[in-house]
Amino acid sequence: MSGEPVPFFSPRLFEEDRATALRLIHEVGTAPEQRFILGEHTRALEDALSRSLDGAHVVACGSGTTALTMALAALGVGRGDEVVVPALGCAPLASAPLALGATPVFADVDPVTLTLDPEDAERQVTARTRALVPAHLFSTMADMPRLRALAAARGLRLMEDSAVAQGAVLAGTPAGLWGEAGVYSFVQVKTFGMPGEGGVVITRDAELAARVRLLRNHGQADGERFTHRLVGHNSRFDEIQARLQLHRLPGLAPRLARRAQLVDAYTRLLAPLAEHGVIAPPPGRDGRCGYVYTVLAEDRDGLAGHLRAEGVGTHVYYPRALPHHAAFRRCAPPGRRWPVAESAAARMLSLPLYPELTDAQVARVADAVWRFVERRAQHPEQIREFSDATDRSPASRTEANPR
Ligand SMILES: *Cc1c(COP(=O)(O)O)cnc(C)c1O
Repeated sequence: MSGEPVPFFSPRLFEEDRATALRLIHEVGTAPEQRFILGEHTRALEDALSRSLDGAHVVACGSGTTALTMALAALGVGRGDEVVVPALGCAPLASAPLALGATPVFADVDPVTLTLDPEDAERQVTARTRALVPAHLFSTMADMPRLRALAAARGLRLMEDSAVAQGAVLAGTPAGLWGEAGVYSFVQVKTFGMPGEGGVVITRDAELAARVRLLRNHGQADGERFTHRLVGHNSRFDEIQARLQLHRLPGLAPRLARRAQLVDAYTRLLAPLAEHGVIAPPPGRDGRCGYVYTVLAEDRDGLAGHLRAEGVGTHVYYPRALPHHAAFRRCAPPGRRWPVAESAAARMLSLPLYPELTDAQVARVADAVWRFVERRAQHPEQIREFSDATDRSPASRTEANPR
């Protein structure tokens, strides 16, 4: 019970940029051209990101979700197709294929990285499978070399949900450039989050990029209004946000470096608990992103309650596997289970991770986790009671989770 509370989300998002943001709103808002979407600032942001990605094409979109949907459409995914996705992750993995009339086919995840298991993904491939969509999760990239080999061997399109992995690099290749197309999300909590909605598609394929460019603005080419070449979407990027992201871009690398340090520190402090019911994510720097720091805890709700009592905020992403949501159950073959995803959904607990976090705060969080483990070792009955009480929260009542 020591020190100030450590909230889960940064309480000071964009604080450093507040004055600049106000100035930019005024500048863009009063500029003679009165251009608020897809103007010169959006283009400049795309160009700056492209330069940081070895010249890959970058198309700015209204959100990470629409970026993913449009990239899949541009890859030819449509009605009747099957798309293999991980059973653990966020809703767009399932809803993006469904929006295109395709069916998400859920494969289980790897027990260590919690990302798409290449072997189970291969078992799900049928004659109707059009694409493979692995997602990087929390702090770990998917096994892209094996998934790329699988896509090549089975003639599948490879779309990378790298929404959370901007800045991560695996074996010299940035997240987002392993697949034929990738996405980054700029929603506020992501590593290049901004105060609003936005994202990008990245690809080395010029034609694919051109198709997404059309799709994001009702099928119109830039500068060719009211000529609709494709049935598109409204997924346009905001000029004020583009200007602000350009201002914040030089700070991204140092913020990512700080996140990586914090991840290393957590892992160093928590790895010894692996034998005692709390498993830290895999160590190392290659193929790692510092988006969210998630441990697997045997008594997840007990640990969350203990940390809350010690003033440490935590979060459960994701309390159930994707196929067990009402929205996606119709895509889950009756009786099929995803044992690793289901067990992870019952055990995952995310700890605070943001660049403003101090070393002392990380040590304080880790100490609190240690105290939980020690107390549980001494008084197993007492902790069990506590966790039963916290089990009544709706988020933790996940009927499909074997606990
Ligand atoms: C955040 C996220 C998205 C969606 O991005 P939005 O910008 O929120 O639409 C897609 N996939 C993953 C894995 C994400 O974490």
